[in-house]
Amino acid sequence: MPAITVDNVLALPRVATPDPISSRPRPVVSVTTAPKGYEGEGFPVRRAFAGVDLRALDPFIHMDQMGEVDYAPGEPKGTPWHPHRGFETVTYIIDGEFVHHDSNGGGGTITNGDTQWMTAGAGILHIETPPEHLVVSGGLFHGFQLWVNLPKANKLVAPRYQDIRGGQVSLLTSPDGGALLRVIAGELDGQAGPGVTYTPITLVHATLSAGASLTLPWRADFNALAYVMAGKGTVGGKGRPVELGQLAVFGAGDTITVAADPKQTMDVLFLGGQPIREPVVAYGPFVMNTKAEVMQAFEDYQAGRLGSIPAAHAHVRGEAS
Ligand code: MN
Repeated sequence: MPAITVDNVLALPRVATPDPISSRPRPVVSVTTAPKGYEGEGFPVRRAFAGVDLRALDPFIHMDQMGEVDYAPGEPKGTPWHPHRGFETVTYIIDGEFVHHDSNGGGGTITNGDTQWMTAGAGILHIETPPEHLVVSGGLFHGFQLWVNLPKANKLVAPRYQDIRGGQVSLLTSPDGGALLRVIAGELDGQAGPGVTYTPITLVHATLSAGASLTLPWRADFNALAYVMAGKGTVGGKGRPVELGQLAVFGAGDTITVAADPKQTMDVLFLGGQPIREPVVAYGPFVMNTKAEVMQAFEDYQAGRLGSIPAAHAHVRGEAS
């Protein structure tokens, strides 16, 4: 798991240890196991949020762990061109490469800890594919795509694209140096990451050494989720077991605790955000507030009002599938 790593974790700034007297540990409300499925043209995913009430996820809507998969030559797959409206996608690549193009002129290649942030807003078409050389060679592919909702007031903003290199994330460690923390978006203990969203969120990729325990300060007005992307360990003060493919939802409070198994490392994606608390009608590629707005989105897409495939890429649709 490359993402971004450092030679000497101990040289990094450390997050403060929350005061054990005044802090309120957030209890574990649920642990769910992500079912496996396929996305796009058939790449394997784990549906990280399946079975969890949207109110506990708010402002997040959906998350897929893409892979980890070791492709044979010719096997790597992506998505065909497709539309979105009403939310933002965050794509984080740990192993392999993904190429993005969209109808708004956004585009780029992400690899090794890079993040693409796409605000679909009023509407956009995009495509995500492995680069040709990876299709030929095959190889390891592992990443995430997270959907962050937009509040009603921002649902129809102009599309925006942010290309965040792995080297731009803020790197921190825990008080004892047992965890490497990559702040991708928002802030953790006053250290800000590079990603910007309309809805305030914090997104952190943590790697815990075998046996390491980690207690993080977490904004009380944010929800708190921990998804295990590799290894196993425990969540919460009572040490509830978790492993690869499981999501823990924490309740109210201002700190969260996780620990790695004594014999193996654990990689965790921590997510938190300010709940939007508006009605959500999520259907296919659209996330709106009402059914009528979803119907309108389909109509607008059919009429070409969400954008069109750039001429230079029009052939890709033909090659797909
Ligand atoms: Mn998409």
